[in-house]
Amino acid sequence: MTRNASAGHVEVYGKSVQALVNAMEFLKLKAQRVLASHGIEPLDPEKWYPMPSVLDSFDDILKQVGPNTTRAIGRAVPKSAVFPPGIDSFGSALNSLDVAYRMNHRGKGDIGSYRFFPESERAARMVADNPYPCEFDQGIMEALYDRFQPKGSIRLRIDHDPAGCRGKGGRSCTYHLKW
Ligand SMILES: [Zn+2]
Repeated sequence: MTRNASAGHVEVYGKSVQALVNAMEFLKLKAQRVLASHGIEPLDPEKWYPMPSVLDSFDDILKQVGPNTTRAIGRAVPKSAVFPPGIDSFGSALNSLDVAYRMNHRGKGDIGSYRFFPESERAARMVADNPYPCEFDQGIMEALYDRFQPKGSIRLRIDHDPAGCRGKGGRSCTYHLKW
């Protein structure tokens, strides 16, 4: 896949890869086997791994296990990945997502981004053009909502903009968030 070419020299922090194993609680062996088949073995949270291997592992999981598991992995990310300090609200968490993304990747290459556009106190738009699966990113946003649940809000609503989806060959996904 061409997207992997640009990520060729980028590495992913083990702590964020750990989410993959943690989320697949009942499929831990499966998760470890997938990672191992792409050279990630053993998984050490303090080490760094080639981004193409991590992305290939995600491809396998999406194809072999499905979108729900991919979403669950996203939901596990904020628990293990490194986040910048000073996050105290859902809005600031969304706003910091791109910084957090960069903290968990290193090296030269285009890794895409998370662009956050606040629209009102309880609505925002997030544009993701990173090479991770769409479901994964939706899981991350759901987990951030759970962790920093805004007062008076019952649930997070994520509407995927119909303009395009990375899962269908699009360059980016736009999410309309309401909470
Ligand atoms: Zn999408």
